[in-house]
Amino acid sequence: MDVRGKTIVVTGAGRGIGRSLAQHFAGKGANIGLLDTNADDLAATRDQCAQTGVIARSYLADAANEDSVVGALDQVTGDFGRLDGLINNAGIVRDAMLVKVKDGQVVGKMTMAQWQSVIDVNLTGVFLCAREAAQRMITLTGGGVIVNVSSISRAGNAGQTNYSAAKAGVAAMTVVWAKELARYGIRVGAVAPGFIRTPMVAGMKPEALQKMTSPIPLGRLGEPEEIAHAVGFIFENDLFTGRCVEVDAGLRM
Ligand code: NAP
Repeated sequence: MDVRGKTIVVTGAGRGIGRSLAQHFAGKGANIGLLDTNADDLAATRDQCAQTGVIARSYLADAANEDSVVGALDQVTGDFGRLDGLINNAGIVRDAMLVKVKDGQVVGKMTMAQWQSVIDVNLTGVFLCAREAAQRMITLTGGGVIVNVSSISRAGNAGQTNYSAAKAGVAAMTVVWAKELARYGIRVGAVAPGFIRTPMVAGMKPEALQKMTSPIPLGRLGEPEEIAHAVGFIFENDLFTGRCVEVDAGLRM
């Protein structure tokens, strides 16, 4: 896909990888619909994208809420008249061990709130946004590209029962939708980042971060722009569908 003049929606676009994705595609000449739950961050991303001369609009929306997603995508198609791309980037972490044991005693568990909040945003949110985007791509545009942000944690990362389950689900849904939507001219891909320098990672405890990053073969965190570059490849390569690109500095779970 030549993204110039196309309309691309990015969820979780207020900061981190989402902001980089928005800047990357705005820099390539795409008009951008930005979804996030943080109004101030959204406005900052929108203003940065608009500086490139494209149309950038922000929509306060919760990717995990059906009414919110439907309403936001209705607004996007009302404003832009078309939808060519969706990047399902919004995601959260609520890490905990399944059971936490100290001195032979179970002193904690992953709570239902930790489990459900991550499943709601990282799995249900991806499903809802993709469903609503696919409907609009078929009826308005006759095709498009959907890219889901998974994670290397989809292989199973200790302390991330909820996150690993959601990200494995995201990778599986990518394959399902690639098969279901190809007949409508929609390609679906995924990227699985390793550890990327964003506010999400900055929020980790230093000792946990050190433990997780020390085995990285390239010896450094990734930059958000390096993930945006990989997503750009998926958009631009018309043979790409149903696969997940690993961008992880060689780290394996
Ligand atoms: P981040 O810095 O925490 O940014 C996430 C953005 O998503 C925030 O602006 C956040 O808004 C927004 N968001 C959260 N819940 C939302 C919801 N329900 N609806 C709409 N927006 C919502 O995260 P990141 O590191 O850039 O991660 C982006 C994606 O990459 C996530 O899917 C993450 O799982 C994935 N990923 C990240 C890494 C990494 O190392 N950073 C590695 C692998 C995969 P608020 O500020 O309001 O919360």
